[in-house]
Amino acid sequence: MSNSALIHGFEVVIGFETHTQLTTQSKIFSRAPTAFGAEPNTQACAVDLALPGTLPVMNKGAVQRAIEFGLAVGGHISERSIFARKNYFYPDLPKGYQISQFEIPVVQGGEVEFFLGTEKKVVRLVRAHLEEDAGKSLHENFTDQTGIDLNRAGTPLLEIVTEPDMRSSAEAVAYAKELHKIVTWIGICDGNMQEGSFRCDANVSVRRPGEPLGTRREIKNLNSFKFMQQAIDFEVQWQIEQILDGHTITQATVLFNPDTGETKSMRTKEDAADYRYFPDPDLPPLFIERSWVEQVRSEMTELPRVKAARFIQSFGLPEYDATTLTQTQASANYFEELALLCKEPKTASNWVMGELSRRLNQADLGFEASPVSATLMAAILVRISDGSLSNNAGKTVLDAVWPAPPQAKSLEEALQAIDQVIEAKGLKQINDSGALKAIIAEVMSKNPDNVAQYKAGKEKAFNALVGQVMKASQGKANPKEVNDLLKAALSE
Ligand code: ADP
Ligand code: MG
Repeated sequence: MSNSALIHGFEVVIGFETHTQLTTQSKIFSRAPTAFGAEPNTQACAVDLALPGTLPVMNKGAVQRAIEFGLAVGGHISERSIFARKNYFYPDLPKGYQISQFEIPVVQGGEVEFFLGTEKKVVRLVRAHLEEDAGKSLHENFTDQTGIDLNRAGTPLLEIVTEPDMRSSAEAVAYAKELHKIVTWIGICDGNMQEGSFRCDANVSVRRPGEPLGTRREIKNLNSFKFMQQAIDFEVQWQIEQILDGHTITQATVLFNPDTGETKSMRTKEDAADYRYFPDPDLPPLFIERSWVEQVRSEMTELPRVKAARFIQSFGLPEYDATTLTQTQASANYFEELALLCKEPKTASNWVMGELSRRLNQADLGFEASPVSATLMAAILVRISDGSLSNNAGKTVLDAVWPAPPQAKSLEEALQAIDQVIEAKGLKQINDSGALKAIIAEVMSKNPDNVAQYKAGKEKAFNALVGQVMKASQGKANPKEVNDLLKAALSE
């Protein structure tokens, strides 16, 4: 993975265009269904094909989703936007034009914030516009023919366009993941990349630092984060080699071939004039009243970055934790419930990001499907904070309940269940200073070398003694108590 460092003295510049299929039941200008996977050519109606005598009618749900997106990224919702015809010929577009927005898109500006490692990045959006999807060409592998499936024709898309703000493949992938998170979080897109619901075009150029932007090539239809990274890395390398060999880059549209790991030119790039855009005479301008925008705003679910800000504010979490916890609604909800129950937000955050995430990943489960509920988890954390369990014993309890967790409707019930496990497994932490002092005395008498070394100033000998005490207590001694009592005993 390349970061934003120069590559052979070149800076990488990337801008994204992402086509997100909106989650409406019906098409953007007709009542035909949008469901994926139907028999070919059973879901495109006369309107989708622009047969003579038909007229498109705007789907309000698609507009609502565009508004939701605009609000989510802090963009401006145009009060008036225009639909245009983008004219081109392609077999999967028998009507000869695509209805899209050109001069005035429904959403203008906005930005997407995310972390690249621990570094905060902001990618500015140029616009997001509504348009219809085209059909699909099916290159059947058992014949040399190409079939056309028009089911997808007229499916609503929101195309989201960034400024050329990204400086590495890693940053581009992180942006795409964040955008994916936003659109799925607010529910305007199902995010299924395999089925083509979230398709990214990466515009890539290179330049020497300080020079004007280089000529870009556009890698089309990247439908996995892995391919995205590979395709951009290959493309960057290829462009740099071309330039170093004395060639110039020609603007082009390229495709990535996952089998070879290479990008290949498909066609030289059209510019706007080639598309002969003009306002669609069948569709009046789209007017969006402020009151509708405010209505949508008031009904919207709390956004990831707003939730993250609240976690920082009201739970005192570090920004990194807050961002990580708000990767999905489910993890955020789980954390919040846990934090409120156990009253130790930072501990809750550590467990959610660490032990719980690890176990859920292994089981390929999301937080919504966690076998151990937030209530049960809270009981474990309460027992850690009141000293009944060491941190490690807490993990053992979690492992013990994981396969068949006791059901607990309240924290009280959960505490009872967890106390039984602690009892049955003999995991109760030894906090009793009398018992601990006895163990310490024994360990000291058995390890006179360590004691002597410590007294001679070797700090490491102290850790060795702590380790011995923990071992002698079968891991049950309260480490903090052990620390204090051992220090005291050694200075006697
Ligand atoms: P078009 O409409 O012809 O596709 P745009 O100007 O709308 O062109 O840009 C499309 C995308 O390409 C945007 O995401 C933009 O940020 C990006 N882009 C523009 N110029 C460059 C460049 N020189 N290098 C990389 N990306 C670029
Ligand atoms: Mg474009």
